[in-house]
Amino acid sequence: MVEIDKYMDTRTMVTSRGCIGRCKFCNTPYYFGNWSGKGVYDVISEIEMLVSKFNAKKILFLDDNATVDKKRMLKICKKIKEKNIKCLFGVLCSIECYDKYMIQEMYKVGFRWIHFGIESGSELVLSKMNKNMNIEYIKEVIFEVKKIGYRVRTSFILDYPGSKKEDIIKTKNLLLTIKPHEIRLHYLSYRVGTPVFYENKNVLNKSQYIHNNKPNVLNNEISEDIAKLIDELKDEGYDIIIDNIDWNTCNSKKIVSFVPIKYGRFWYE
Ligand code: SF4
Repeated sequence: MVEIDKYMDTRTMVTSRGCIGRCKFCNTPYYFGNWSGKGVYDVISEIEMLVSKFNAKKILFLDDNATVDKKRMLKICKKIKEKNIKCLFGVLCSIECYDKYMIQEMYKVGFRWIHFGIESGSELVLSKMNKNMNIEYIKEVIFEVKKIGYRVRTSFILDYPGSKKEDIIKTKNLLLTIKPHEIRLHYLSYRVGTPVFYENKNVLNKSQYIHNNKPNVLNNEISEDIAKLIDELKDEGYDIIIDNIDWNTCNSKKIVSFVPIKYGRFWYE
């Protein structure tokens, strides 16, 4: 019903499901279970179909964590190269599954956009989330990926239970150090089935089960620091997107968003 050539040029595909991580707020491991991926042949066939029949110029791998199996990703890259597929790609993955060589090989065949769910600049909050990551390592990875040439998006949860003023300040410091091109800020949604939901079930009301872009368990002290964080990001040249906007008229390159934004913007060969 639409002229596909005039329609948007970015498509999405899902090449794997599940995760090896067990972050307490995430329903992926509790719903999809352990990671499993489609075979290389199927992934390549789908890419070719999207390019030839649906005018895809850019494809986002909308997996939960696309880089768990490094050998599989390297084989996908090899096939894209062998078949000389002309397309740009984006990928959602985790710092835990980062591998510099793999990310470089991905870049060579057209991957240009990468998302990492970092979620906090405080190691204490990260450990409460069951995300045992080292802040120095996070910085190292983001600097490397930016240097390779990727456009980088990171996501953060501002109001994870137990977060204090100093944790928000640590998140702010991390953001101002790594300066991703795009930042997704979230308030926690307590997804049924996740550990954080069961841990807090008794104090939640139903409006807090879903993404509503509203603070859930913030106290005033943290609210003020979140406001300061947003002000400092504005000073750094980020545009703050709170609600839906017209992406045809928005040319902002540095974005902080509280809502999903259009994929494929500023992915260049
Ligand atoms: S790494 Fe990402 S997908 Fe995996 S469990 Fe954690 S939040 Fe979920």
